[in-house]
This record gives sequence, structure tokens and C-alpha cells, in this order.
Amino acid sequence: MADDYYDLLGVSKTATSEELKKAYRKQAMKYHPDKNPGDKAAEEMFKKVSHAYEVLSDDQKRQTYDQFGSAAFEGGAGPRAGGPGGGPGGFGGFHDPSDLFRQMFGGQGGSIFESMFGGGGSQEQDNSGEDLRAEIRITLEEAAKGVEKKIKYRRHAHCDACDGSGAEKGSKKKTCHTCKGSGQVVRSNGFFSVRQPCPTCGGAGEVIEKPCKKCGGEGRVVAEHEISVKIPAGVDHGTRLRSRGNGSAGVRGGESGDLHVFINVEEHDLFRREDTDLHCEVPVKFTIATLGGAIEVPTIDGGKVSLKIPAGTQGGTVFKLRANGMPHLRDPKVRGDLFVHVAIDVPKKLNADQREKLEAFSKACGDTENPVSESWFSRFFK
Ligand SMILES: [Zn+2]
Ligand SMILES: [Zn+2]
Repeated sequence: MADDYYDLLGVSKTATSEELKKAYRKQAMKYHPDKNPGDKAAEEMFKKVSHAYEVLSDDQKRQTYDQFGSAAFEGGAGPRAGGPGGGPGGFGGFHDPSDLFRQMFGGQGGSIFESMFGGGGSQEQDNSGEDLRAEIRITLEEAAKGVEKKIKYRRHAHCDACDGSGAEKGSKKKTCHTCKGSGQVVRSNGFFSVRQPCPTCGGAGEVIEKPCKKCGGEGRVVAEHEISVKIPAGVDHGTRLRSRGNGSAGVRGGESGDLHVFINVEEHDLFRREDTDLHCEVPVKFTIATLGGAIEVPTIDGGKVSLKIPAGTQGGTVFKLRANGMPHLRDPKVRGDLFVHVAIDVPKKLNADQREKLEAFSKACGDTENPVSESWFSRFFK
């Protein structure tokens, strides 16, 4: 079961942003890894409350959460964005709980996190690039077959001018005078002292003499980027694909983040999807339903399947066409079924000849000849 974000923070669904902030501060302090050293459960809770706050403190995200629940933020089914056309939707970086904490409460406590979540206690600071998020809209036909889509977006890219180093060509890096190259400084505070990344060099141990003019010393620049994403057959609305290394480039040669592609599958005019099964309503002429015959049913692959209609088929009858549904994402050779719901097609206009014959038929039937209506009446009027 997914946690309720409001419960996690201990506030009501109508909480104001001020109440949310207060509640988050309280919970974050309680589970803060500083106060619970080595306690994995507390660390997990800290991440959870931070995530809950990150969502609820953003009006738009909060609205989405209220409507769709946490699945919208964890790779489950998200909201169906309206409007036509394909292509990517919004982009946004993913947050690290320590970032959020630092943003809200300043440096206090935050730097310890860097070593916890970032470099894992080593003197290296995490300089890897941010993960990015893209949304892509495809049709149900494309989801059935698989498709390749181009995505164009802006991200931080490796700076060519300095080859990602951040130093102007010909200039050298020099040892940081603050930390003497160790990348760490020790801060004493009463009874304890804390090792933390050096504020001057950011933990690198070196500083750049002359920053690269193109990237300002960051080793990366914002640039347009285009990739081709292979979307496998069988994806569903809300499926998340990860494109490794296609997020933002890292700072000064750090590792690139990933691009998370969320799939939106459009509603189909004819087919309704339930997992790997498809449902469709097919009109059947009342004469065929009465006398029996065969009809052609369209499939999601653009083909047709012949379906035998037995004499006396009633409206609402459901026929199953095996293995004509959607492919399974893990094994596309295995497919769901297609359920055909019969809708009796009653003619709206009759010519004189047809009317005469139908009236003669009706007369020949008498009033209680129809087996369905007979049993229906007999249930109520005994
Ligand atoms: Zn550069
Ligand atoms: Zn330093």
C-alpha cells in the first residue's frame, strides 16, 4: 500500500501551506539521520516525509496527488494530459531529500547529508547530473505494435570548450587553499565536530584558476538534445522507461543523470483496454442476430477477424476472440483477448416491401413468441 502523504506529515487534507511547512519541519527533525545515526527505518521515513512535502507544497503537484494519488509520482498511472498531438510534455528535475531540506532550513544539517546521500562518506561531493522527466503521448495502435519516437528537449550537456573540466584551455587547476586539497573541512561545534565538504572547492580539492568562458567553470552548458526512444509493444498508460545517461550532464565531468520517459496512451475510439484485454462494441444487424451468420471484427493491428454469430444472439452478448488483445510487455508473443460486445443494429428506415414483410413476420409470431420477452414477463406477471 502506498503511504498517504497527508498522513505521513500528520496534517488534514485541507492544510494550508504554512501548516504543511510546520508539519514537515517537525517530521523532518524527528527522522533526521543526524538524530538517528545508523537507523535505516528513520532514514527511510525522512525520505518519505520529504517526498510527501515536496509534492504537497507544490500546488500543481498537490492537485494531481489529490486526484490520482501517489502513483502519479511513482511511475504508476498518471493523469491523462488533455489536448492533441504527441511529443514531450513538461520536464522537471527529481529532488534529493537533502536538497529540499537544505533549501528550506539552510546549511544547518544539510552538509552532513551530502556525505550520507551523496558521496557515501567519502571526500567526493556528488557532482552527477540531474535526472529529467519527459512525457510522451502515443496511440493504442502504437502501444500494441511498439514504436520509436524522437524527443527533443533542453538539458545540461558536456562543455566541449573545456572538455567538461570547467577550466579555460591552457589554464591549470590549483590545490584549494581552504582545505589544502583534501576536499573536506572540519567544523567544530561545542562537543562535536563534523567533517564536511569544503565550501571553497565543493569537495573537489582543487579550484579552477581561470574558469572556462563558455560554461563559466561548470563544465556543462544548456543545450538542445534529441534522442530516439524505442517504446516496446505492450506499454500501458503510466509505464515509465528509463533512458540512461540522457538526463543532465554532471558538473565538471560528473556522471550524467537519466531521462525518465512516462508513457501516455491515448483513449481509442473503438477499443477499451483492460490490462492486456481489449473490449469493443460491434453492431450486428438484427436479421443476422436472429438468423445467424458471420461478421468481421476489426483488430488493433489493423486486421480483421471473422466472428460467427449463432442464430438467436441477443444484444449485449459478449464473444471472446482469443489472443487478439494487447501484447504482454514482458513477452509480446503472448497476447490478451478481444471481447466483442454485441449491439443489435435495428434499421431506422424501412421501404414499403420490407415493412410489409416484417409486419407479416410479426403477425406470424403472435404476441408472446419472443422467448426472451416471454421469460422476462413471466418473472414479473405470474
Ligand atoms: Zn567549459
Ligand atoms: Zn577546498
